Amino acid sequence: VKRALTQRAPLTADERLIISSFDNNSISDWSYYYTHGLHLAGRNESQAQWTADRWSEAGIPSTRLDTYNVFLDYPINKSMIMTYANGSVFTPALVEDVLPEDDTSSYPNRIPTFHGYSFSGAASGEFVYIGRGQQVDFDALVSAGVDLEGKIAISRYGGPFRGLKVKNAQAHGMVGAILFTDPADDGNVTVANGYAAYPDGPARNPTSVQRGSVQFLSTYPGDPTTPGYPSIGNNVSRADKSAVVPQIPSIPISLLDAQPILAALDGHGTPGRQVDRPTEDWVGGLNATYSTGPSTAVIDMSNYMQDDYTDIWNAIGVINGTSADETVIIGNHRDAWIIGGAADPNSGTAIIVELGRTLGKLLATGWQPRRNIVLCSWDAEEYGLVGSTEWVEQYIPWISGTVVSYLNIDVGASGPHPGISATPELHEISIEMMKKVMWMGMNQTMYDVWMDDTEGEVGVLGSGSDYTAFLHNGIASIDMGSDPDPVEHRDPIYHYHSNYDSYHWMSTYGDPGFLTHKSMGQYLTLLAYHIASEPSLPLNVLNYADQMDLYYTDLQEVISEANRSVDTSELRQAIDTFRTQAQEAQALEQQAMSMGDEALLEVVNRKKRDFQRGFVSQGGLPGREFYKHVVFAPGLDTGYAPVTFPGITEQIEAGDFDLAEQWVERTAAAIRVAGNILRT
Ligand code: GLU
Ligand code: CA
Ligand code: ZN
Ligand code: ZN
Repeated sequence: VKRALTQRAPLTADERLIISSFDNNSISDWSYYYTHGLHLAGRNESQAQWTADRWSEAGIPSTRLDTYNVFLDYPINKSMIMTYANGSVFTPALVEDVLPEDDTSSYPNRIPTFHGYSFSGAASGEFVYIGRGQQVDFDALVSAGVDLEGKIAISRYGGPFRGLKVKNAQAHGMVGAILFTDPADDGNVTVANGYAAYPDGPARNPTSVQRGSVQFLSTYPGDPTTPGYPSIGNNVSRADKSAVVPQIPSIPISLLDAQPILAALDGHGTPGRQVDRPTEDWVGGLNATYSTGPSTAVIDMSNYMQDDYTDIWNAIGVINGTSADETVIIGNHRDAWIIGGAADPNSGTAIIVELGRTLGKLLATGWQPRRNIVLCSWDAEEYGLVGSTEWVEQYIPWISGTVVSYLNIDVGASGPHPGISATPELHEISIEMMKKVMWMGMNQTMYDVWMDDTEGEVGVLGSGSDYTAFLHNGIASIDMGSDPDPVEHRDPIYHYHSNYDSYHWMSTYGDPGFLTHKSMGQYLTLLAYHIASEPSLPLNVLNYADQMDLYYTDLQEVISEANRSVDTSELRQAIDTFRTQAQEAQALEQQAMSMGDEALLEVVNRKKRDFQRGFVSQGGLPGREFYKHVVFAPGLDTGYAPVTFPGITEQIEAGDFDLAEQWVERTAAAIRVAGNILRT
């Protein structure tokens, strides 16, 4: 059954100004600028300054660069060669083709394929295919009796954050890791399915390589040498980084380079279909049986990196509100792995430049927001959320004291399907704003398109972009973007972290006319405008109780799968009490609004601003101090995907039931603190 289309919600004069201010041609100009210069982390000061200059020019009253000195590493050279048992060899290319159509893939100083924070060194040995490299994959290998010690890991991309694949391989005594792109992860839009490859068509260019960080993200993000404190100046004390950066070398490769390596495993070890994992997770789309190995062929690989302590630059723009102690932060990262980065992150970057211009136009009409608005263009997100994490570490007292929401846009446009993930109190306002935006010049609201695609599902935040340091310090957060769907909709393949994430790809395939950029920009700006200006802070605290009920049900499932009883009644009670307190806060808000009682309204707004800080547990989760939120954390073994009630859930999964019960208490206690902040 097709849903009836919704009419666009009526617009105020300010909202009309926001909608009409977004111009796809100027967004295209900003995109062109960012995608035609080196903007690897720590090497992009001019683009940081340029961003601040555009905001100043637009009328943002105060702009600046915030600088940190952090550990980064850069590629020097690498090699890989596979020698078969009979002595013949295969030498992978390890480079992406230079395309005449694509001016930035042929840019003279284009960046090699490599892993950020990868280990500098060499490795040799037989190899083993480790699936997606999660602990469950290793469990299957161990139970199949596959020898891992001293072997090189071959892992398919997708699923957990890439750094955790390397982490798991290292933990199993493996000596190197090779991560490849599998064609099966591109859905229907493949060369095998008759689509031409980029630049001739929408399928993946077979030489494309996914670069990316291999930091152990779920332990802590940010500069690896300054966990929990800001990395400012050259004399800052540096901690041992080995808890979060690999001690074995790793190299990313294309599907073309992967084909002979996977095929060399045929006939060795357990065939893929017999491995105790869901077949679609283990067996991909290359012409091979995805057998475990070990191989008889041997790989020799080397990966040499230059370690560096270097400055990075966050561009910051500030508009003061009439209420000094309430702030909305809007953030996007600016650094990319490549010259291009048209989708990641510069679709978002082009949008926040246009957003700055729009806020400037609003200011020129005499508007002043009730709440401060801070614009942030982060550096070094790609290495491990470094710019945003250091900034939060520097300003945490002020952030905890004033921030009402953090709004993140990373890949703002890589395809036509919008999606959002957010903490529960932001769901309602985030959905309402979709009703005010017509999607990509079509006769449909963003809300209708999003409902058709997602059935109205707002995602749960884990990690993988710059909201992380905010969220895990108890700040209401949302992440938004728009992606292709090559499975259901046969949209063009987005070449994530590849040279082909270029302006040419974006303007030809990803978002011709920059219409997705425009709609997403209108959406983000309306959302920021409303959160910054509505007299009553538009956070729905009752939905926190509703969502915690759902997470509670999920927890019961985890417990029943573990086949042990865990008493969660204290958690149940804490959520129920929280619900009552949230209802009281809402009633008080109603009262303040209907009586026009500004002082009372301010009291309620403060409660809504502050209650989430209660969820933050001193000392953090077991074994990882950085992650302190008792309701959400990035999964220890997923990195990107979240786990809810992490203190309890992960201890049950690890089989530590005593600690799990302690965490029932700690989680309940934190929820009581949050509820008490709401209480009237
Ligand atoms: N967004 C980047 C990635 O997925 C960085 C994530 C991180 O290091 O936290 O590779
Ligand atoms: Ca730090
Ligand atoms: Zn990004
Ligand atoms: Zn990225």
